[in-house]
Amino acid sequence: MQRLRSTPRVFAGPRGRQPDRTGRCAGGRSCRRPLAGVFTALAPSASGERYVVCKNAIDHGACNWAVPVSDDTPFCRACRLDEIIPNLSSDHAVEAWLRVERAKRRLVYTLLELGLNVESRRERPSGGLGFAFKEDVGGARVMTGHDEGLITLNLAEADTPFREKLREQMGEAYRTLLGHFRHEIGHYYWDRLIRGSSYVEAFRAEFGDESASYDEALKRHYENGAPPDWPERFVSAYASMHPWEDWAESWAHYLHMVDTLGTARSYGLALQPDAGGGTSRTSLSELKVTTRNLHFDDFDDLLKGWVPLTVALNSLNRSMGHADVYPFVLSATAIRKLRFAHDVIENAARDGSRLASRPEDDHRPSPQ
Ligand SMILES: [Zn+2]
Ligand SMILES: [Zn+2]
Repeated sequence: MQRLRSTPRVFAGPRGRQPDRTGRCAGGRSCRRPLAGVFTALAPSASGERYVVCKNAIDHGACNWAVPVSDDTPFCRACRLDEIIPNLSSDHAVEAWLRVERAKRRLVYTLLELGLNVESRRERPSGGLGFAFKEDVGGARVMTGHDEGLITLNLAEADTPFREKLREQMGEAYRTLLGHFRHEIGHYYWDRLIRGSSYVEAFRAEFGDESASYDEALKRHYENGAPPDWPERFVSAYASMHPWEDWAESWAHYLHMVDTLGTARSYGLALQPDAGGGTSRTSLSELKVTTRNLHFDDFDDLLKGWVPLTVALNSLNRSMGHADVYPFVLSATAIRKLRFAHDVIENAARDGSRLASRPEDDHRPSPQ
């Protein structure tokens, strides 16, 4: 980690005036001067918590979040989770790291929005979360994965041609940095929310027995591939490998849903398909949705918005000659698994294991 060299820049802002996803204060007036990297309260009477720009923003332009000056670390809620960052002596490594941090901030943003517990392993030595971003050295390949709260990512995944080539080789429909993070964090929250809990029985009924040998499942998957009927039972081919992977894939998919729908809601997106589009009237009425009206604590409501939104997004992408942004079809079984992930998160809120501090306690513009 880099040492703090710059003088912290401090601003004071009124409580409750947090930026929305466009970076504007709830009061409608911009509170951020991006070029200067300084947050400034425009109201002369501003008082309340004082913030400093995250150290990774000051040193490397690698972040756009802020930290309360009362915190005992100069790193924001996302950056303080880093345990190993790449050697930044090359421009290539810096660029790759910035892409990784951008994806990680979006992950953390969603986790905090959902009210999940996000603490570093320094803050919570037993059960905390950490990230290690490493490069292959010599013949030693860095494996992306999760182990006891530490999520390791091979920095090469930030290289689009490398990642795209791997996606094709593995026959995957979707492979992104954000997708990696959302998958690996699913393993982390399995440990935190399900392992040894009253969910285990229900988990096994839905996903299968996770005590089955992982090594054997891995070998079987890479030798034989996914079973032919996987689309009827799993959200992805990889999910069919082992109940843990099924959970991580379902969890990641749920995060795709809530973040994309949240963004659509922040833009007030409404879909009202035109009857001239060649689709039958019945299915058109099912595709109507106003994202501002969605209730995010109601899974059926989320699903009602999700399907029309993905149909529209895929159509827009095709209009530009791009691949589908959402290359998935959800079976009834896969939807049940998403509902399970939703219920686990919602119940975590009710039983008090949600964060001590809610998102409004921190100052986070939407990840860029
Ligand atoms: Zn930061
Ligand atoms: Zn996994």
